[in-house]
Amino acid sequence: MKTVMVKMKKVGPTRGLGPRYGSSVRKRYIKVMAEMKKPHKCPQCGFPRVKRESVGVWKCRKCGFKYTGGAYTPVTKLGVIAKRSAKGLPTEEAVKAEEKQATEEEEETA
Ligand SMILES: [Zn+2]
Repeated sequence: MKTVMVKMKKVGPTRGLGPRYGSSVRKRYIKVMAEMKKPHKCPQCGFPRVKRESVGVWKCRKCGFKYTGGAYTPVTKLGVIAKRSAKGLPTEEAVKAEEKQATEEEEETA
């Protein structure tokens, strides 16, 4: 006899009462960290030699082109968050706001 039971029904990463930040945020963080360590393409010479010099600053090791972008990747959705956080909104708050927005959109279509 099989006693394997599904204990919890997954409704959605942001649904229900739980920790303030769902696993989706952590998953995204892991993904971002992986992205950050990858070489990025230079917008000037096209070589994937762009490395993060400091938070939001990217430099190409091929042609020396330096530019600002996202805190973790040159240009991403998180770059938008970085810009927002620069305006005074903490990154976590921005992520939370995005999560909330996504949930609201989800609920509207449901
Ligand atoms: Zn370059």
